[in-house]
Order: sequence, then structure tokens, then C-alpha cells
Amino acid sequence: MTTSQKLDDLIQALRLLPGIGPKSAQRMAFTLLERDRQPAKRIADTINTAVSEVGYCQGCNNFSDTPYCLLCCNTKREQDVLCIVETPADVSAIEQSYGYNGIYFVLMGHLSPIDGIGPDDINLDKLAKRLQTQTFKEIIVATNPTVEGEATAHYIADMIRPSTIKLTRIAYGVPLGGELEYVDGGTLAKALAARDTL
Ligand SMILES: [Zn+2]
Repeated sequence: MTTSQKLDDLIQALRLLPGIGPKSAQRMAFTLLERDRQPAKRIADTINTAVSEVGYCQGCNNFSDTPYCLLCCNTKREQDVLCIVETPADVSAIEQSYGYNGIYFVLMGHLSPIDGIGPDDINLDKLAKRLQTQTFKEIIVATNPTVEGEATAHYIADMIRPSTIKLTRIAYGVPLGGELEYVDGGTLAKALAARDTL
């Protein structure tokens, strides 16, 4: 509790952000209101604009200001290889790896019955429509190697399998520069199962 109800409201609002606890939220709120309030106004305006104007790409469901995003419009990308990921952050991570030149579909989540998130909540209808309107030579399911990510991958596989599209799942393994004795058993077992010719 501070000396201002409106300031308390701001602190509570900032706590809605991931990874922000009460102390951090308080510090951010104080910083926003101390002295020069111009940066705070800029942040508020930018959030308002983004919230009302950033939409979803009709091709990949990633965030976009235009009907189709830059990646979907890029003719240098392999437009017949589709990588399905959970979030826009996953697209950024894969793009930064420079190891992929196809296009994406962003689910904006994963199946999680415990949180009440079912197939209707992760844009699978949009994905199904996408698969009906375009032919792909390969679909890579790159959901996270978590319980929810695996469940989502299985659901998508069941959805796609009746067709003859080549369906793959990203491999898991030992991190580059890592040492085997520090890798968990599950990852090591997966790495052994997915071993490659030397
Ligand atoms: Zn797109």
C-alpha cells in the first residue's frame, strides 16, 4: 500500500506482467512517476497503439500489422515447409538460429486441460484451414518438450496424419558444449534414441 490509490492500481496492473513480483512492480511504478513523466506517457501510448492495432497474420497467426506478415510474404523462404510452434517467441528463437528457411504457424498456446485450454483455444481450426488451402511437402511440429507441448504435438499429429504430408517432430538432445554427466536422464534417453550416423 502506498499513499495513493491510483499508484496502488498501477502497481497491481504492472504485476500482471510475467516475472514481475510486488517489489519490482513498485519500483517500476515509482520510476514511471518520478520526475520526467514523458517516458511513461510514451510507454502508455505505445501499449495502447499495439493493443488496438497489432493483429494476427492470416497465414501464420503470428502478430502482424498487415494481413500477411513479412515472413509469409518472403518469396525466398520455402513456402511449402511449415513449422508449428507455440508462441511468437519460439519463431524469434528459431529465426535467430539461422537453421530454418520455411514458414511458420503459431498456435498462441498449448493444450492444457488443467487450465481449461482445449483444442478450440489454440487456433487449430485456423491451422486446419491453412492445411486445406495449401499443399506442404513437410510439417515440422516444434512445440515445447513439456507435458503440454507433447500432448499438443500428438493432437496435431492425429489431425494431420490421415494425409500423406511428411510429418516430423524436432529432435531433443544434449546441448552443444554440454557435458553428459549434467544432462538429465530423460534428455539423454531421447538423445540416444534419436542418434545419428557419425
Ligand atoms: Zn505470417
